[in-house]
Amino acid sequence: MKNKGLGNIASSIVENNFKNLRSNLSCLEKVFKVTRTLNRLINDQEKDADVFFLFLDYLNSLDKMNDNTNEVQINLITQGFIFKFLDALGYKIEINRCVKCGGKLSKNRNFFDCNCGGAVCEACGSNVGNILPISNNSIKIIRIFFQNKIGNLSKLKINHKESKELSHVKYGFIC
Ligand SMILES: [Zn+2]
Repeated sequence: MKNKGLGNIASSIVENNFKNLRSNLSCLEKVFKVTRTLNRLINDQEKDADVFFLFLDYLNSLDKMNDNTNEVQINLITQGFIFKFLDALGYKIEINRCVKCGGKLSKNRNFFDCNCGGAVCEACGSNVGNILPISNNSIKIIRIFFQNKIGNLSKLKINHKESKELSHVKYGFIC
């Protein structure tokens, strides 16, 4: 696996397995886009095994999807994978309490600060510029990402707003 890069691994695995995935163009496009991002982020060889199995989980989950699977579900699985991937790489994303004061997150209004690596409560986030607002549902979804295997994530329901918020958080990390 060493020095091959996930892109090459992805190509060779997909060539030999994942019959459904291979015939699903929107899934395939996603996979190759994701692998380009991953290759940029991986430089620690020690993390390879964890990351590799997570990646296999991701491909398996996409492979189980059928032709009726919509873009929203593919995106959801992909987002879940990227959050879990960041976690496996050692990014300690704080999503249970405020990353600034350590206190509980607010009931109504919270933020996310990618530079600090976590959720920020209303009091700490209100007067800070360049910080992402995030809904409680999106916070819950990130927690679910961390607590579940990728295969289970396809059952999650997510709306457009949440999907957008998660994308913003994700891009804050992998820009
Ligand atoms: Zn706080």
